[in-house]
Amino acid sequence: MKIVFLGPPGSGKGTYSSRLVPKLGIPHISTGDLFRENIKNETALGKKVKEIIDAGKLVPDEVTAEMLKERIEKPDAKKGFILDGFPRTMSQVEALDKLTKIDIVINLILPDHILIKKIAARRQCRKCGDIYNLADINEDGIHMPPLLPKVEGKCDKCGGEIYQRDDDKEEIVMSRLDVYKKQTAPLIEYYRGKNLLKDVPVVGGPDIMVPNIIKVLETISS
Ligand code: ADP
Ligand code: ZN
Repeated sequence: MKIVFLGPPGSGKGTYSSRLVPKLGIPHISTGDLFRENIKNETALGKKVKEIIDAGKLVPDEVTAEMLKERIEKPDAKKGFILDGFPRTMSQVEALDKLTKIDIVINLILPDHILIKKIAARRQCRKCGDIYNLADINEDGIHMPPLLPKVEGKCDKCGGEIYQRDDDKEEIVMSRLDVYKKQTAPLIEYYRGKNLLKDVPVVGGPDIMVPNIIKVLETISS
């Protein structure tokens, strides 16, 4: 199955995608993680995109689409994948349409004031990208308990250091939400028009949401 996760920053795309991997047996492909990996390893690509990402802007479409193409053409992605953070512009949609046919688009919905809280409290493993969250949200019928590592500051999966992304700092978050609204939100109507879109309101943490999402995926798997 070829799945796309749409949704604003902080809506849980990365968390839910990574937790679906063992259940679906297909890879999680996050363009944000791929960029961060390149930045960490100080590759030519990493050097090119670091400033853009730290400023909360989008990396140019050609650069992103080329990186995505290389990843999607690897053998492990032949039978399917979970795309998280791509496409983010109409031009990226066109690039993706040329590469493959998507089966379903999960559109995660969460109000801005909760996104802002979640992003401020988000932490990530520097080594493996595993996501944690310090926020304890219980409002507007949305209950998301914190996702804490077992040992403070250390990743459960690999023992790596847990840190806050530079672009998760407050000054940058508003501009990322703005970029999402202007450049990515129009994709919702595009995929709705193609009959591929499933709206999924985020009402809880992964224990509630992962089974919710699996149910939605089952509506299309034959
Ligand atoms: P989030 O979903 O929380 O915004 P991501 O890890 O998906 O975070 O993305 C982090 C940053 O990486 C984005 O703000 C942007 O600078 C860059 N990026 C990721 N995916 C794309 C993309 N498809 N097109 C352009 N830039 C991207
Ligand atoms: Zn880790």
